[in-house]
Amino acid sequence: MADVVILGGGLAGTMAALALADRGLSATIVEARGRLGGRAFSRALPGDAGPPVEYGGSWGAPHHHRLQALAARLGIGLIPRADLVAQAHEPATEDGAHAKAMAQWRADASAADPRVLSMTVAAYFDDRGFPTSARREILAWWTISGATDPGLGSIGMLMSPALANGFGYKLNELAYTIAGGVQGLAEGATRVSGAKVLLSSPAERLTQEAEGVRLQLASGREIAARAAIVALPINVLGQIRFDPPLPEAAARLRRKGHAGRVVKVLIRAKGIAPGSLVTGEAAGLRFFWADHLRADGSTLVVAFALAGDMAEPSPAQARAALALAFPGAEFLSADWHDWQADPFALGVWAGPYAEIEGLHAAQHWGPFGRIAFAGSDIAPEEQGWFEGALASAEKAVKALAETVLST
Ligand SMILES: Cc1cc2nc3c(=O)[nH]c(=O)nc-3n(C[C@H](O)[C@H](O)[C@H](O)COP(=O)(O)OP(=O)(O)OC[C@H]3O[C@@H](n4cnc5c(N)ncnc54)[C@H](O)[C@@H]3O)c2cc1C
Repeated sequence: MADVVILGGGLAGTMAALALADRGLSATIVEARGRLGGRAFSRALPGDAGPPVEYGGSWGAPHHHRLQALAARLGIGLIPRADLVAQAHEPATEDGAHAKAMAQWRADASAADPRVLSMTVAAYFDDRGFPTSARREILAWWTISGATDPGLGSIGMLMSPALANGFGYKLNELAYTIAGGVQGLAEGATRVSGAKVLLSSPAERLTQEAEGVRLQLASGREIAARAAIVALPINVLGQIRFDPPLPEAAARLRRKGHAGRVVKVLIRAKGIAPGSLVTGEAAGLRFFWADHLRADGSTLVVAFALAGDMAEPSPAQARAALALAFPGAEFLSADWHDWQADPFALGVWAGPYAEIEGLHAAQHWGPFGRIAFAGSDIAPEEQGWFEGALASAEKAVKALAETVLST
């Protein structure tokens, strides 16, 4: 019997296995997919010979020290983001109303008034009477931050004093990617931890007893352990039966989930300089970053849309969007992963509903006896990022090691 059974083999679950091993404790990771990594999903583009690209999370920020430390420990390098070489906002506007609105936005960011921060994005736009062009500029950055329908998420998920000088700070948060793909960190952490891994094994029911826990898999198989770490996206927690049930705050978020819904489209194109950024709106896509050159001389453009603006993308739509964002570029191909429909994610990164944002706070997530929760959606810091997943794993392991696993 392992000391700990870990539900979910994303960065949180696999980091938990490594942190347990560092304390001399053993783990079994139970993962629903046929691979580790979860929302870190690195694979080759169809028909492309270059290295894997990121269908899920991609970038780390300069202050993400755990992410950097894990990569260093595994001997995996960081690839710095291309320098910004060109920036455009489409449709371009010389309108004074746009400049005035953006000055108001920067003033609000600097003031960080809690009343303003708690407004939904849509309510904030209406309150300030922003013109469409300013809404589009802010929504482009919202698409890579708060990531929800503007009527659902609070503007505080994007607005912060760091943005008082403009959105350059947000771009600087996308500082580097992981050589060979982020998924390699999950695989490497697992390998070093020596944890046993069960792939293609969805968990269904977690029962806590006096001396340990019992996990039932969808296959009917049961796994016993001294304790459990639940490292699942909160949007799939509703599929797991907890016995005894979770306390009220956690149970409420388990029922409601989060509203983070984004489409990330990977476009291969010719004639675009890496380091080019376009924000605005083009055939549903709002944020385009020309990431790097591929071995065949094409550029990989990473583009984002809010899922509410664009259900399932299509190559034709990606081609149309690229033509608007980068006139004159040659479209080659587009690909994406539908995270909204993915049964083991049901969304992208944590995009809290404004009215229950507080339920994501780590204080509501135990540990509850022999069960600790981890995962970027409920991270004690850097929620929504890889770094948050790693921080949450460390916290969960420490909590169990100092209590039910201390003897
Ligand atoms: C499109 C996209 C872009 C992103 N961009 C960035 C970025 O640039 N930088 C950044 O830091 N973060 C980014 N993120 C967020 C980042 O990917 C996540 O925050 C992080 O990977 C979450 O890790 P986790 O371990 O908490 O959850 P997950 O990676 O979701 O891991 C949970 C695991 O649980 C498994 N699972 C689900 N149900 C079950 C079940 N019933 N039984 C067993 N296992 C189950 C899943 O398959 C998964 O492997 C992005 C995410 C997406 C989707």
